[in-house]
Amino acid sequence: MNFNNVRIVLVEPSHPGNIGATARAMKTMGLQRLVLVNPAHFPHLEACARAAGALDVLDNAQIVNSFEAALIGCHWVFGCSARSRGVTATELDPRQAAAKIAEHSDLTEVALIFGRERCGLHNNETDQCNFLVHIPTNPAFASLNLAAAVQVLAYELRMQTHRAATTPSGNVLDLPAPADEMQRFYEHLEQVLLQLEFLNPSNPRHLMRRFRRLFNRAHPDRREINILRGILTAIQQKTDPPVGR
Ligand code: SAH
Repeated sequence: MNFNNVRIVLVEPSHPGNIGATARAMKTMGLQRLVLVNPAHFPHLEACARAAGALDVLDNAQIVNSFEAALIGCHWVFGCSARSRGVTATELDPRQAAAKIAEHSDLTEVALIFGRERCGLHNNETDQCNFLVHIPTNPAFASLNLAAAVQVLAYELRMQTHRAATTPSGNVLDLPAPADEMQRFYEHLEQVLLQLEFLNPSNPRHLMRRFRRLFNRAHPDRREINILRGILTAIQQKTDPPVGR
């Protein structure tokens, strides 16, 4: 995902407040490139007020006088529509769209387009989109406020970067501990519990199985298992008489 290659386009927004709220929605999620096609009122105090701290997004907004001008240089065009259009382009939900945008924006410019408050995008505009994006809603009341729709898409884009950042790093210590290490940990734990006489060998009451369930649910990594093993060893060293392993 390269946010520098993602532009948010508002087509003929009529309410300056929505432009400001869009800037805020974008900045909270890390987006900064706003393009406005023939805004009815801009710049405007109401836009600044609703932008809160996102005035830089407004200041850097690019104003163009046609839909086509907003798309110059874009290889991928995603149009957000409150109505399901069916025929013109493949329809995606926001999560699917965000995954595609994450992929394409690494290499090329991508536009994410939002329509007019009153009537959305015109057919000749959706015809220029590679994909249409529809936020699932109550079918009897499907239309979100413009800036709210921007927020949903911006959030999904953010989640894509978040997912990428939290996928396992490739460091073996971050991986869940392998089964044989888990097995050695359970044996060690059992040994210490017996030693402490917490576990009664003649009446174990499924205690070890319960511990397995508890630790398996937490899928500890190798570092964590090493810490637990270290604690068990420390207990053994303090126990009288000390029992070496
Ligand atoms: N009355 C218009 C809705 C306009 S809402 C219509 O029927 O099309 C303004 C813009 O917000 C829409 O053009 C679209 O880009 C976005 N939007 C609102 N609700 C949406 C939804 N459920 N899914 C996708 N985009 C939506």
